[in-house]
Amino acid sequence: MSVCLAVDIGGTKIAAALVDSATNHIVDRHQIVTPKSQHPAVFSAALASLLTPFIAPADFVAIASTGIINNGILTALNPANLGGLNRFELVDEIQHITKLPTYAMNDAQAAAWYEFISLTPNNNTHNMLFITISTGIGGGLVLNQQLQTGARGISGHIGHTVVDANGPVCGCGRQGCIEKVASGTAIGELGTALFKRPCTGQEVYQLALEGNSEALNIIHSSAAAVAELIANLTISLDLDTVVIGGSVGLAPHYCEYIQQYLNEKPELYRPRIIPAKSGGDAGLLGAAHWFARQESHT
Ligand SMILES: [Zn+2]
Repeated sequence: MSVCLAVDIGGTKIAAALVDSATNHIVDRHQIVTPKSQHPAVFSAALASLLTPFIAPADFVAIASTGIINNGILTALNPANLGGLNRFELVDEIQHITKLPTYAMNDAQAAAWYEFISLTPNNNTHNMLFITISTGIGGGLVLNQQLQTGARGISGHIGHTVVDANGPVCGCGRQGCIEKVASGTAIGELGTALFKRPCTGQEVYQLALEGNSEALNIIHSSAAAVAELIANLTISLDLDTVVIGGSVGLAPHYCEYIQQYLNEKPELYRPRIIPAKSGGDAGLLGAAHWFARQESHT
C-alpha cells in the first residue's frame, strides 16, 4: 500500500491531497488560491507552503495541471494563459520541494481517467472521450481502455479543433476553434455582443433558462458545435462513450441539447452520452490512480 500526494494546479486554485492508493480515496486535502503573480519564484513558494505538511506520509507525487505537460515542463497552446509560468519546470520543481518521485499530466486527461475508472461496469467501454465545457473546452481520451497522454502531452486538447473556419481567432493561433465559439467564455462574449452590455456565460445561461429565446439560441449553438465535435471524433476513433463535464456541460438541459443534435445524425455517429460524476476532485483522483499504476511498476 502506498500514499500519493496528489496536486491539482488550475488557473483559480491549487489543491493538494493525500490519496490512499489502495482505495483511491482522499484522506486529507487542502487548497489555496493560485497566486496572482505569475513569477516562477512566487509560484514555487506557494507550492512549497501548500505541499510541505503533506510530504512526510507520501510515497510519490501525482500532478494534474492546466496546460500541456511535456517531459515534466509546463507549456500551453495559448502561452498567454500561463504568463511567466510558460516553460515552468513543474516536475523538477516539485521533486525539489518534496524529494519524492514525481509525475505530472494535464488536468483534463487526469479527469478523463477518473471518469473512466468510475464507470460501472467500465469493461464494456473501450473508447471514451471526456469533454469539459467550462471557461474553456478541454478533454481526454481513453482508447482501448488506456488513457492517451501523447508523446508530447497534447492528446485530448479538443478545444482547439476548428468548428468554424471563418470564426474568431483563438489564442492558439487558429481560427474558429470550438473553445472560441462554444465555451462558457464564448457564450459570455456572444451575449455581450447581443445584449450590448457586459455578460458572463453564466448570465447568458440563466437568461436562457428564464426563457429568453436569443440567449437560448446561443446555448443551442454551443451544444450543436459540441455535438458536431463528438460526431467527428466518434467516427474517427470509434468512441462508444462520451462523458460531459464542466460548469456549462453540467448546466441544466445542456446534455439533453447535445443529445438532441446527435439524434439528428446516423446511428454510427451517436455514442452513449453520460454526465460526469466527479466533483472538483477528478483531477486529483485521476492523476493519483494513473500514476499509482506506474509507481507500482518501478
Ligand atoms: Zn485554439
